[in-house]
Amino acid sequence: MPELPAPIARRRTFAIISHPDAGKTTLTEKLLLFGGAIQMAGAVKARGEQRRAHSDWMKVERERGISVASSVMTFDYEGCTFNLLDTPGHEDFSEDTYRTLTAVDSAVMVLDAARGIEAQTLKLFEVCRLRDIPIITFVNKMDREARDPFETLDEVEQTLALEVTPASWPIGMGKGFLGCYDLFDDRLILLARSKGEVPDAGDPCQGLDDPKLDEQLPGHAVESLREQVEMARGLCPEFDLEAYRGGHMTPVFFGSALNNFGVREVLKGLISVAPPPRPQPTAAGPIEPQEKTTTGFVFKIQANMDPKHRDRIAFMRLASGHFKRGMKMKHVRSGKTLTIHTPVQFMAQDREVAEEAWPGDIIGIPNHGNLRIGDALTDGADITFTGIPSFAPEMLQKARPDDPMKAKHLGRALQQIAEEGAARVFKPRIGADWVVGVVGALQFEVLADRIRTEYGIPVHFEPTTLYTARWLEADDHLKLKRFIDANSTAIADDHDNAPVFMARNAWHLDRASDDNPDIRFLKTKEQV
Ligand code: GDP
Repeated sequence: MPELPAPIARRRTFAIISHPDAGKTTLTEKLLLFGGAIQMAGAVKARGEQRRAHSDWMKVERERGISVASSVMTFDYEGCTFNLLDTPGHEDFSEDTYRTLTAVDSAVMVLDAARGIEAQTLKLFEVCRLRDIPIITFVNKMDREARDPFETLDEVEQTLALEVTPASWPIGMGKGFLGCYDLFDDRLILLARSKGEVPDAGDPCQGLDDPKLDEQLPGHAVESLREQVEMARGLCPEFDLEAYRGGHMTPVFFGSALNNFGVREVLKGLISVAPPPRPQPTAAGPIEPQEKTTTGFVFKIQANMDPKHRDRIAFMRLASGHFKRGMKMKHVRSGKTLTIHTPVQFMAQDREVAEEAWPGDIIGIPNHGNLRIGDALTDGADITFTGIPSFAPEMLQKARPDDPMKAKHLGRALQQIAEEGAARVFKPRIGADWVVGVVGALQFEVLADRIRTEYGIPVHFEPTTLYTARWLEADDHLKLKRFIDANSTAIADDHDNAPVFMARNAWHLDRASDDNPDIRFLKTKEQV
């Protein structure tokens, strides 16, 4: 592989995957603290241990400011530029979460030391696996009663079918958690010295036999550290960069994000082993980041980021080239040229105008709705990025404004939300209601909350008897038209005016597709 130009080589674009409450927010704060991007950890209010009421999380996250508002957090540390992409981490997640993972080069998987792999960790991991995204594991909350580290390693290996190798080893746990031995860098890192804003970097050691360990740790702790590491080394393969980069092996760090412990080691791990911007898949094969042509793809749209403006921001990941402010780029889908005057860069909580950006970077492009998820921009030949998923809406409900006079406004709000990719919106040919399709039930609550707060339209969702929606396609337009005309009570249009079949039940769908072999009933509409 040819060497990457320095500005590309030093970029690390990653996401944190975890189950709610494992400590993603806490770890994010500490990472930003290291990067000097926020002044004081804990400036953000601690959240109660209890599960919050569903409708609460948006408000809570809004107050906290860093989770939702900053979908991208850029910070520098020891010569690297990190782009941390937020994967919304509530109990029930949306397509955005998945798509965000199409824009990262690696991930940090945070596990609660007492709980190990939980439902959402697993779902997100599966998305990472589809794209062979390399994963660094951080076992958090070692300051609490935790599982035996061997048990955790074993669970990761078994459940995820991933080779594991310890990158650090914990010394005790819970109240008796003293620190870790950094196996990558041969250092003793003590919890007692890690308090405060800039934790101690640890004491370099000459391996585990170094008498320093005996001086600094109680006898039983050193003994079991030596014993356990020896055992772990016997059981686990050595770290193998290629296996990690290919998504087959994960190095495991132990720590406590709350105590700012182990966080530096994760960052160092990202610097030393995590991949710089990877080639991105396109219809014509992968595009290398160092190619001259500047290209990027939109993976997320966010409307109303700034309550004063109704504009939306398209998040574009740069795939290749070198972007400069004011650059003209062709919007491949429309064929139009855009001049990007005010690309937004996300520095932790702030937004700034980006003067330039390199592959791996995310820039926000303010627009009025012309940019969509999956869209490609280029200053060269046309390009189509692949692998940006679109999901079958599995749950369908009617959206109704509390005030019937607001129906038109609601229609506009739903249209915007559909363009953002946050939900599917269908307008049945017959009837006045809008039907909204989502992949997780909680999304209805989230949407109702958004429509109320961002668009000022009180709205409620009502169950329907609909089973599912299928996009209709056919090579023969006449046949398609005939089918649509004959089934108009079951036809709706999506926000792009594409025809959709709304099936009442599985039988209805099966019969329609059996009777019409020339028509394709598609579960998802390709973004590209
Ligand atoms: P998220 O839902 O994954 O973003 O989790 P949070 O970062 O909000 O953490 C969930 C809870 O666990 C909060 O109350 C944190 O203070 C707490 N927490 C996070 N990291 C640690 C840790 O290392 N040790 C302990 N004891 N608590 C932690």
